[in-house]
Amino acid sequence: MDLGPERPICKRCVLPHSPPDIVLDAEGVCSICRQEEARQSRSDDPPLLETDFVRLLQKHRGKGTHDCLVMCSGGKDSTAALYYMKRRYRMNPLAFMFDHGFEQQDAIDNVRRAADALGVDLLFYRTDAVRGLFRKMVVSGSRAVLCHPCSIWYMSLTFEMAARFDIPLIIAGWTKGQSARPGVMTRCACNVDAPEYRSMGEATKAFLKTLRDDPQYRDFPSSMEEAVARARKRHHATVLSPHWFLDQAAEDYVEVIRREVGWRPVAESYPAGSTNCSLNFLSVWNSLRHFGYTHYHVEMAKMVRQGLMTREEALRALEVNFGDETLARVLERLEPPAK
Ligand SMILES: [Zn+2]
Repeated sequence: MDLGPERPICKRCVLPHSPPDIVLDAEGVCSICRQEEARQSRSDDPPLLETDFVRLLQKHRGKGTHDCLVMCSGGKDSTAALYYMKRRYRMNPLAFMFDHGFEQQDAIDNVRRAADALGVDLLFYRTDAVRGLFRKMVVSGSRAVLCHPCSIWYMSLTFEMAARFDIPLIIAGWTKGQSARPGVMTRCACNVDAPEYRSMGEATKAFLKTLRDDPQYRDFPSSMEEAVARARKRHHATVLSPHWFLDQAAEDYVEVIRREVGWRPVAESYPAGSTNCSLNFLSVWNSLRHFGYTHYHVEMAKMVRQGLMTREEALRALEVNFGDETLARVLERLEPPAK
């Protein structure tokens, strides 16, 4: 697997020198860290507190057959979110998992086990509807990040399910590194205005534009903002993650969900210790080739700056832990299903 020449990495976070979006200065510190330094000296956002979260939950508690829809991937963060909603906050969640054909069986099993152990209802949605879109992206040689259109698709789907079951609250397992504030909508669909996402965001936008001429995907939203705006016209749901409001380290809640709901790590996923779908290997390989880093580098760089993980931990997790064989297997699965 050829990923080109090695790039120098920022001494403070884990972002590599990738001009024009990320540039290391003479001291070996990246432009994003420098920007963050300047921002922090200007203003200090008050931290979000658990009492804020509880206040938001109170608005919706007990409404409808379920008062929250929890997006479950089978990973530690969303499994902990489901556990918290049921046990810590005594809400009445509907667990929701989708499989676009690339979810790993271990992940699906985690969600089923958690729903069983917690006694919550589970909605499992299996579809081939976006396989063609992923294939188109790969075949076109686009630099776009596969996870971005995917997250636009699955957020639209999640809103649709919330509408169908008339649920006012969507709960995600997003961590502080993925997005640290309510209102920041998505796990992977990036804020294209953030400099470290600019080139990736532009590539995604350019790819989504090409869908206009595709009869199958002509109506696909052109951005996350458009997807959310369309969804909100039909049904208003607030999206929150408990992790934004809690100061718990992942190793603490992993311990709890292992014990309480039988959570297990999946055998193979990137970054190490995550539970991402198998298409993610292709997405990561593409981003490393084209940009020298992935959205996981951006997320973990944020967590390192916030002191939520050490630089060494992040670097270890971000090492490429898969090879050509894995990629070949995923590419094979992109082929249209046999009729
Ligand atoms: Zn940096």
